[in-house]
Amino acid sequence: MDSIPVGVPVEELAAQANSIASASGVQVEKRRDDGSTYFECAPMSLLPNAYPKQAFAQAQTLAPHFNRLVDRVSRDADFLQQTLGGGVSDTDPYTAKLLKLYQEIYCGQDDNFAKTADYMGIHRSDYMLHKGADDKYHIKQVELNTIASSFASLSTKVAALHRHVTSRFEADVKELLQANKEKVVGTKGGDDDGVPINPALEQIPKAMAVAFSQYVSRFSPSNAVIVFVVQDGETNTVDQRMLEHRLWSDHQIPVVRMSLTRAHTEIERNDSTGALTITATGQEVAILYFRAGYAPTDYPDGYDGVEWQARAKLEQSRATKSPALGYHLAGTKKVQQELARPGVLERFFPDDTAAVEGLRAAFAGLYSLGEDATTEDKAAVKDVLLSGAEGGYVLKPQREGGGYNFYGEQLAAKLKENVKVTGDDVELAPVLGEFILMERLFPPMQRAILLRGGKVEGSGDTISELGCFAAVVASKDGNILHNEYAGFLLRTKFANVDEGGVASGFATLSSPYLC
Ligand code: ADP
Ligand code: MG
Ligand code: MG
Repeated sequence: MDSIPVGVPVEELAAQANSIASASGVQVEKRRDDGSTYFECAPMSLLPNAYPKQAFAQAQTLAPHFNRLVDRVSRDADFLQQTLGGGVSDTDPYTAKLLKLYQEIYCGQDDNFAKTADYMGIHRSDYMLHKGADDKYHIKQVELNTIASSFASLSTKVAALHRHVTSRFEADVKELLQANKEKVVGTKGGDDDGVPINPALEQIPKAMAVAFSQYVSRFSPSNAVIVFVVQDGETNTVDQRMLEHRLWSDHQIPVVRMSLTRAHTEIERNDSTGALTITATGQEVAILYFRAGYAPTDYPDGYDGVEWQARAKLEQSRATKSPALGYHLAGTKKVQQELARPGVLERFFPDDTAAVEGLRAAFAGLYSLGEDATTEDKAAVKDVLLSGAEGGYVLKPQREGGGYNFYGEQLAAKLKENVKVTGDDVELAPVLGEFILMERLFPPMQRAILLRGGKVEGSGDTISELGCFAAVVASKDGNILHNEYAGFLLRTKFANVDEGGVASGFATLSSPYLC
């Protein structure tokens, strides 16, 4: 273990942090072999990580633009078809299924209830700091999550925990924070602002309450609820429960939790009104908030099975979905790559150059490996195959939840197997259609102490990824009823770990220490 300059024994500081975590609910559920569960401290960084103020502010500025972008992309059936219909659908049955449902439900001639429902998005745009030509760190987007964006609640509590630890043990942690600050802003950084208040746990229920009251005023249901669509065996339950608790305490909105499998039999749709009702209780479902459904494994009964039937039934209702299929598809990695092509942002923001410029500045290099690959895309492939530049890229399939990307040698091997280069010609095998190639980002390394299960896992060089939450509510006609920045998440992992993801066991929860 790397020796870290803190003024008290690390174990003592960890015990303090662990006690605050327990007292404030920074917990995840753990499952024993016999199926019973218990709670333990969520994976977390003992101290916050230095983060440049301007970069943090930039992420906040972009939040409402990304919301509008997702909303507009979701309504552009031609764009979604062109982007996801060809090579992606041919090679990825999951995305193909989402797209097919989207077309059946939203693009047919017939009227159906989904077409008149409101939209709600709880998005999280993830960024890494990356050095620009000016030798300063700027945010570059890793990906945009439009379904099951998690850790809003726990990161709110972690921010408070880090504010506590850094003030209570100020003298003991100063040297480490200062050393880390120098790595991100150099020696001339300005005054520190410390760990900002994280409004996520307030903002997300607030957006849900806007969507809820919109539903209530449109349909006057007698006892409406929000359904959280969750995974069987979910362990990140505290993060979800805190949203449920705030919906009740701040807005008196009740929540019911249900898996897609159960929704198949336990929620019914009235075919003359489009209302969804929980059969056993008669409660009307105003909003569906999906914390499941983003991975093929959330549909264990297969593509014609009960979970997909449930998803289709829920979608074809008058309930507000978070996300509706269009919002879900707008968050795919292929769409991200397509949006980075010249002229595409302009299609969605024809008269908002500020939005276009702001968004574009946050895009990293993104390359298609499909039949639409351009000379520039192929040049990136050649860069890997002919120049051994695999360390400068990440290869990503259309998956969510962490653990699916290819890096380094594996990336090179995957491309070698599926690409034929003859002279200037680059022939990409169809199997690469669902992948995108992305410029690899290199955030500054900072020394940190990481805890897992409340124990010190280790210390050493780490890198961080900032997530910026944003919430949006829109009417069927595209009127934006609510569009706000909704808090942050910082995830920190050891620098030698390629993948991210707290739930998938790679990263820990942290907070930005603004400087
Ligand atoms: P997922 O939807 O599975 O979370 P991501 O695109 O976020 O997919 O990739 C997972 C993780 O891989 C990220 O959290 C990050 O740690 C790492 N990663 C992804 N893209 C890049 C990149 N361009 N440069 C460096 N690391 C990346
Ligand atoms: Mg994701
Ligand atoms: Mg991610």
